[in-house]
Amino acid sequence: MNKAFLKRTISPRVVNGHPWIFNNEVEKIDGVINGGEIVEVFTHDKKFVGKGYINPKSQILVRLLTRNKTDEINDRFFLQRLTACWKYRQRLGYRENCRLVFGEADALPQLIIDKFNDYFVIQTLALGIDVWKPSIVKALESIFHPKGIYERNDVSVRELEGLTRQKGFLSDPFSTQIIITENGLSFYVDIENGQKTGYFLDQQDNRRAIQYIVKDADVLGVFMYTGSFEIHAAHYGAKSVLGLDISASAVEQAIQNAALNRLGDICRFETANAFDVLKQWGKDGRQYDVVMLDPPAFTKSRDTIQKAINGYKEINLRGMKLIKPGGFLVTSSCTALVSPGMFLEMIDTAAKDAKRKIRQVTFQTQSGDHPVIRGMENTHYLKFLIVEVQ
Ligand code: SAH
Repeated sequence: MNKAFLKRTISPRVVNGHPWIFNNEVEKIDGVINGGEIVEVFTHDKKFVGKGYINPKSQILVRLLTRNKTDEINDRFFLQRLTACWKYRQRLGYRENCRLVFGEADALPQLIIDKFNDYFVIQTLALGIDVWKPSIVKALESIFHPKGIYERNDVSVRELEGLTRQKGFLSDPFSTQIIITENGLSFYVDIENGQKTGYFLDQQDNRRAIQYIVKDADVLGVFMYTGSFEIHAAHYGAKSVLGLDISASAVEQAIQNAALNRLGDICRFETANAFDVLKQWGKDGRQYDVVMLDPPAFTKSRDTIQKAINGYKEINLRGMKLIKPGGFLVTSSCTALVSPGMFLEMIDTAAKDAKRKIRQVTFQTQSGDHPVIRGMENTHYLKFLIVEVQ
């Protein structure tokens, strides 16, 4: 096996447990490197650090899979890892749907697996994990006997690794429009053409957090995707629910989801650009008891964080203006680079500019099947806040 030796002084990240090793942290490599292969990593004075996969095409040269010298990376390794991931989720109470593998936070860098009852959606976002797809599929088959496994590798980050964008079946073909249940409600999940893996499991626990505040309320949900928060609101006793999304196919699916739960008479869904509509409706003096905002990530680059924060401020300020005194704002941000502190600061500024006083009801993060590891910033990405707006 090839060996990589780290420079004498590198950032303490690696010692502190982070699995990434950058190009400029490696002093030398013994042997010929082939992208995707497993290498052993040592400190400059030849102390074993771990084993991981290498890709000279990527700025992140090595991603460690284990720090245990006796671990062999093979079918059994992936079976053991996936078994441990499933045990952990079960201990947290997840049964039907969960993010089974959350990449670095599960010591399986760049591997994402979502479990939607008997169906599994996989993303292998780096070359070194992509080559192990057959072992991963085998492990899923042996643990779950799934009805279907699908690959959603149609994402641009793969190009940084020299990989192509692709999607398709990793099992016998099956009908990719499935139904899942969450908090007693049913939702269509379009595994093949839905956003990301088809459904946002990271908000599954937060959706319950609106349970009491939406009772008898007129609710506006913006950036609703297929209406999961909005249908929860209707189920929890909202008087009326209006959901908006820029995507016509999302709106169509939200309508189907409301019908599936017999909540079609309470919910209305429309295609709209949130930035235009929130501004106009503020001018029109529209008022709601609860406004919910769940926009997509606004940036993936440090250079544009301020622009992202301006975008968040814009929609939150506009959203607050549409809320009756004593109503609630339910607001999220999934931009990893916007820290919880930055998010709260942005909300404070928005409230000040909207001339409204706010009181925090709850401030949460993603659900526990997406574990947060301190020191791995990317694992702590979701901010979910409810405030009363006076
Ligand atoms: N709340 C959803 C997830 C929302 S994902 C859930 O819990 O499942 C973000 C959504 O914002 C996407 O569906 C996307 O189509 C939509 N979106 C992006 N830009 C938008 C815009 N300018 N106006 C309205 N919707 C937008």
